[in-house]
Amino acid sequence: MPAYYSQPAAANYSSPPPHAQKQRGYRICDQCGQVETPVVRFRLCGGCMVTQYCSQECQKVHWPHHKAICQHTTSQIASIKQHAASYPDENIAKNLRKFCSAHTSLLCWVGFQALQLKRVPSNIRQHALIIDLAPHNHPEGQRRFSVASTRIVKRSYIGDPLVLADIQRRDDRCRQNGGIGALVVLVQCAGISQVMPIEVDPPSKISWDTREDWAAVLHHFVESGRTDFQPISTTARGNIQYGY
Ligand SMILES: [Zn+2]
Ligand SMILES: [Zn+2]
Repeated sequence: MPAYYSQPAAANYSSPPPHAQKQRGYRICDQCGQVETPVVRFRLCGGCMVTQYCSQECQKVHWPHHKAICQHTTSQIASIKQHAASYPDENIAKNLRKFCSAHTSLLCWVGFQALQLKRVPSNIRQHALIIDLAPHNHPEGQRRFSVASTRIVKRSYIGDPLVLADIQRRDDRCRQNGGIGALVVLVQCAGISQVMPIEVDPPSKISWDTREDWAAVLHHFVESGRTDFQPISTTARGNIQYGY
């Protein structure tokens, strides 16, 4: 069974806030949902070094809810480090984290398209997207992996009750705020499974069309090491506009 741990920063997938340059895929405070800006940088939880907050106050308020998953994440990462010798790349957990951060907007878009959430929003409750990566020997951090395969699985594929509880918490929060729930993308390599919960706004707020070439787009950006993915959309005149 792979070791699961959560993505460093919860991301959301929604209408752009006014200050944002990028259109989608932001980091949000795990307590209040505020979006990180270039001015107010978030602080990481000192325990797991993965969850992030807009302020010390939010971190304090969140601690009773975060404690269990925090300790779980810490022990998962420790056990990965312990077994690191058996992997070709001992920094694989760290590199996976970097990969997910660098490609956040791409991964949010790919998950949304793969589960066809624009057309069938209820898929979000049932399914998750798995992206299996193969390690690469490449000096550039964002090019240390290539995409080996992708598949859609039942959410129950994640057997870890603490990780599931954490996803459930994000689901509830997202729905309370009018969204459809937390989209789950699992990025896996060498027995490590990084869980990316992406909180999604209602489809009515998202103008993207249903495209089926998400896998090709994913390959293209990952292989070329490009981290400047922009959402792809159909313009008002019906022309398809690629983000690359
Ligand atoms: Zn906050
Ligand atoms: Zn923590």
